[in-house]
Amino acid sequence: MRLLQEIRSELNRLYLFELEDRLRVEAVFYRGDTLCVSSQVGCAIGCPFCLSGSKGLFRNLSDEEIYSQYRLLKDKLPIKRIAVAGIGEPLMNYQNVERAFWMFKREGLKVSFYTTGFPTDKLLSLLDLPHNGITVSIHTLDEKKRKHLLPHAGSLKDLLETLETHLKTLSKRKRKKISLAYLLLKGVNDSQEELLEFAKLVKTLGVNAVLLYYNSTNPQYAQMSSEEYERCFLILKSQNIRVTLSTRYRKDKLGGCGTLMVNRSS
Ligand code: SF4
Repeated sequence: MRLLQEIRSELNRLYLFELEDRLRVEAVFYRGDTLCVSSQVGCAIGCPFCLSGSKGLFRNLSDEEIYSQYRLLKDKLPIKRIAVAGIGEPLMNYQNVERAFWMFKREGLKVSFYTTGFPTDKLLSLLDLPHNGITVSIHTLDEKKRKHLLPHAGSLKDLLETLETHLKTLSKRKRKKISLAYLLLKGVNDSQEELLEFAKLVKTLGVNAVLLYYNSTNPQYAQMSSEEYERCFLILKSQNIRVTLSTRYRKDKLGGCGTLMVNRSS
């Protein structure tokens, strides 16, 4: 595995890696201390708003390949945190992701995850790790709509039952490390009614909400204005829940959800 190229935007740095079999994956350095790494070459979940999964799944990354995205950059960058939030669904490559997690931990790094929560038995294993944050993508509470937005992420009912049952067993301190993500898609899931329903879930589970801003990678989904984004934030905020907004790093063209690409040509 080798580092092929660095691409810089105003705020972030994207790193393109070539694997032994010539496939390519990407990692992004953002916030001045965090490296977002990929866990698979492609993704089988198939979210229509995401570039990473647009070509399907090629293969899993090995534990070494996940770790090497950090190893090849650690002398160049002040990396303190790893976010397993790049290309791929970490739970669909759980064994290798968990091995890589321990490799990162041995280096004294903080490690957090972004996941669709599927498969749910692996989500339970992930929740038991000494992680530094898990964000589960919800995006809608309508089963049919979620099937469209996250086509191969299993049933929403199963996911919610798993979260309800398991989160109850966690201490308040541990629950604070769990967040539910809501990617705002204009005209798709941004109604007041849907946002209030999401806020209710967040409150019931005693977790945090992450309201994600969409960096349009598919013309089918329009870019939201800052005012519209703010309106949705205020609806959630009015329900007295903890809500995090996308930072400027995430809003950057190389930082938003779904902007990483498999096999980018250099
Ligand atoms: S958003 Fe995440 S889960 Fe969905 S296709 Fe992209 S990488 Fe996979």
